[in-house]
Amino acid sequence: MSLDLRELYQEVILDHNKRPRNHGRIEGAARTAEGHNPLCGDNVRVYISTEDGKMTDVRFEGSGCAISTASASLMTEAVKGKSFEEAEAIFKEFQQMVTTTGEAVPHPDLGDLEVFAGVREYPVRIKCATLPWHTFRAALQGEEEAVSTE
Ligand code: ZN
Repeated sequence: MSLDLRELYQEVILDHNKRPRNHGRIEGAARTAEGHNPLCGDNVRVYISTEDGKMTDVRFEGSGCAISTASASLMTEAVKGKSFEEAEAIFKEFQQMVTTTGEAVPHPDLGDLEVFAGVREYPVRIKCATLPWHTFRAALQGEEEAVSTE
C-alpha cells in the first residue's frame, strides 16, 4: 500500500472516530445486540429498524478504540437501506479483506470500508474492526447473549 493511500485511510478512520455517523440508540428498535472485545476493551451496541426486509435505520453506541468506533460508524453507513442478504454479502467481503494475508487486492464494492484494508497487518486490530459486524449480525439473528470476540 502506498504511503499516500495509507495516510488517506488513516484520515477517514480518525474522522469517523471523532464524528461517528449514526451514533445513538433507536428507541423500540426491532433488533439490537451487544458486543465486547475484551482484548482491547471495546464495547458496542447495535440497533436496527426494519421494514419490508430492508434496514431503514442502523445505529450504534458504545465505547472503544478509534478502529472499533470508526468501523461501527462506517458499517452503519454501508448497511443502512440494504436488505439482510445485501448486508451479509458486504460483511463477507469485509471479513475476507481484513483476514486474508498476502498481496492486497482492491475491493471496490466496499466503498469507504476499504480504509480497513490495513488492519490485516495488525492481528489484534482485526477484532476491533470486526466487532461491530459480529454484533450487527447477532442483532439480525436475534441473539440474546452478548457477542464476545474471545
Ligand atoms: Zn479496539
